[in-house]
Amino acid sequence: MTTARIETVVVDGLALANEIRDELARAVAAHRAAGRRAPCLAVVLVGDDPASASYIKGKRRACERVGMDSLERKLPASAGERGVIAVVEELNRDAQVDGILVQLPLPKDVRANAVAEAVLPAKDVDGLHPLSAGRLLLGEPGLRPCTPLGILEILARQGVPLEGAHAVVIGRSAIVGKPVGLLLQQANATVTLCHSRTRDLPALCRMADVLVAAVGVPRLVKGEWVKPGAAVIDVGVSEVDGELVGDVDTEGVLGRARLVTPHRRGVGPMTITMLLRNTLAAYEARGA
Ligand code: NAP
Repeated sequence: MTTARIETVVVDGLALANEIRDELARAVAAHRAAGRRAPCLAVVLVGDDPASASYIKGKRRACERVGMDSLERKLPASAGERGVIAVVEELNRDAQVDGILVQLPLPKDVRANAVAEAVLPAKDVDGLHPLSAGRLLLGEPGLRPCTPLGILEILARQGVPLEGAHAVVIGRSAIVGKPVGLLLQQANATVTLCHSRTRDLPALCRMADVLVAAVGVPRLVKGEWVKPGAAVIDVGVSEVDGELVGDVDTEGVLGRARLVTPHRRGVGPMTITMLLRNTLAAYEARGA
């Protein structure tokens, strides 16, 4: 049986991100007009990984664009866990700081979980503190991880219905897979969470109305794994021969999926934008 060709929307994540950044800029401007200070995001960078340095530069620019303040704390790779936590605690006490983000990955001798736990929950704009994770699990309001929030925002702004839909998530990390699964479930989707031990992944994917790939395996998801009319979100980013590649064979899903996010200008810009939105939410919740 042949499947009718569907006009696949390749989502422009940057355009969506810019739309939301304009909304955030208006909200920040309203606070400033009322005589309040600007929200402030603090970013901690440990070591000299060039990719991390470039990410934090992007975050600084994004803050500027919406009128938020940002500050950076750079530490040598030798700072150690106690050194990193000491800086986080200093930022916790700083009344001018609304959000704290510690750039990952961290050096091997610094436990990411210990650092996440040191961040004051009210300033946990990355949504990685155990309290934030617990609130998400319980369905209570709180700061959510940025990439999952960005994915839900893309689906909402593209008008993808989630109520009663079958969402298949590949990946079960604490940063993407598990929280996006919980958010989709809270939006009344029926969620299947897959991982490296899942049997017959292609068959499960073929049942998905919404398919989220957060794996880090280049072009794992083939066109024929996609149910006609599904929404496909490609979160993965891998490097192959110096080129960035996603988890989805984008070409293969064209004409089959209802929409697909490209690995460039897809989920990435939305992640940074959700960080800004979380910073504004943390600022407003603190009554700054
Ligand atoms: P992670 O912690 O390495 O988790 C990867 C998950 O994929 C694990 O749950 C793993 O299963 C599963 N997996 C690995 N190989 C698999 C396979 N062959 N079949 C099915 N499942 C498999 O990664 P992450 O932090 O969630 O990130 C995932 C990807 O998204 C990475 O490429 C990362 O760079 C990218 N990312 C992008 C953004 C963005 O803003 N664009 C943000 C965050 C992450 P097990 O649990 O069984 O090991």
